[in-house]
Amino acid sequence: MAIDFSFPEETQHLIVKVREFCTNVVKGCEAKIDADPDNRDTLISEIITMRKAAKEAGLWLPHMPEEFGGMGLGHVEMAAVSAEAAKTRFGPFALNAQAPDEGNMHTLLHWATPEQKEKYLKPLCDGRSRSCFAMTEPEVAGSDPTLIQTKAVRDGDDWVINGHKWFISGARGAKFAILIARTEDDPEIPQAGNSAFLIDIPSEGWEIVRDVHTMSGSHNHCEIRITDLRVPNSTMLGGPGQGHLLGQARLGPARLAHCMRWIGQSEIALNMMIKRAMERYSHGSYLAEKQGIQWMIADSTMELYQCKLMVLHAAYKIDKGLDFKSEVSMAKHFVANSLNRIIDRAVQVHGALGYSTDTPLANMLTQAR
Ligand SMILES: Cc1cc2nc3c(=O)[nH]c(=O)nc-3n(C[C@H](O)[C@H](O)[C@H](O)COP(=O)(O)OP(=O)(O)OC[C@H]3O[C@@H](n4cnc5c(N)ncnc54)[C@H](O)[C@@H]3O)c2cc1C
Repeated sequence: MAIDFSFPEETQHLIVKVREFCTNVVKGCEAKIDADPDNRDTLISEIITMRKAAKEAGLWLPHMPEEFGGMGLGHVEMAAVSAEAAKTRFGPFALNAQAPDEGNMHTLLHWATPEQKEKYLKPLCDGRSRSCFAMTEPEVAGSDPTLIQTKAVRDGDDWVINGHKWFISGARGAKFAILIARTEDDPEIPQAGNSAFLIDIPSEGWEIVRDVHTMSGSHNHCEIRITDLRVPNSTMLGGPGQGHLLGQARLGPARLAHCMRWIGQSEIALNMMIKRAMERYSHGSYLAEKQGIQWMIADSTMELYQCKLMVLHAAYKIDKGLDFKSEVSMAKHFVANSLNRIIDRAVQVHGALGYSTDTPLANMLTQAR
């Protein structure tokens, strides 16, 4: 069986179109945002400008079906588009394909009832609302969701929810959350103890305690306290005990979408490393002529190549409806670590400049971590 590694002609055109859009529109808007970093009005008006332009260019919502106003791309095509868009900071945002909304859109598309789709998915797709996904808790290990302590208790037609979450990305300003809470006291298997709920924000009992400050600043990863939050049974997303299943189904494509964006960032770092090595002169020749520097560039190039193959194969398996769990997990592990190594080498080749904030590398490195 022949393996075809070429993208169809339309996808190749699309990649060029996204690249041109990011160069001609997104970079200009980013420059205005960066020139006035504390001005929220500038931020909002530039995002609106980018999003209008994306819609006009036919680049809106690449990952969603046409009936929701999207482009209906598969995961393989998305891999190409996302890597291009992520070469600019606001590229994914301009196309309305940013985390965590992108993953939440997939979740709602597959699990929501028609009424839930109308209320939550449609405004998200139109760019009229933002969302968050609330699963992780400070008190228990996030890597084992069977330990979740946030509890929803049935009371007539309602559920009453109490709990504590943190690192809930995008919570401030979100119109709704997909909240994971324990509903089953004695599930058949430990993974069937949680359910998902759609929570309107603001709601009585949903309190944003703080924006958790991270090593790369405050980026709206919030701590949330949930106290006697009452919601009707119709807000349950999927069935009782299906929260884990839903989380896994969401996280597969969402993990891979991160990898796609990280490939774009790795490419930027590698290109900067090469450019600097070809310009910087030391000890009788350019850095690019030193074998120690060439090794760093060669290792980065090989790792990036492996990243692309892993992501494309995992995307292919999702598109074909095959079991993708292992491939997506391996891709996330490898691409995340490669991204860190490649940016770190780029910092090294830039010397003191790499450690400064005069280039984007320092910010890229803390974001990557
Ligand atoms: C920037 C950022 C954004 C986030 N956004 C969200 C969000 O929007 N919504 C949300 O719900 N959560 C979010 N999270 C939380 C994230 O999902 C959790 O951090 C993650 O699931 C790990 O949980 P934990 O932090 O509790 O680490 P822990 O589970 O305590 O793990 C600690 C360490 O132990 C390791 N470990 C765990 N089990 C094993 C094992 N069996 N063998 C060996 N090592 C193991 C882990 O890999 C990790 O390195 C975000 C986190 C970050 C940093």
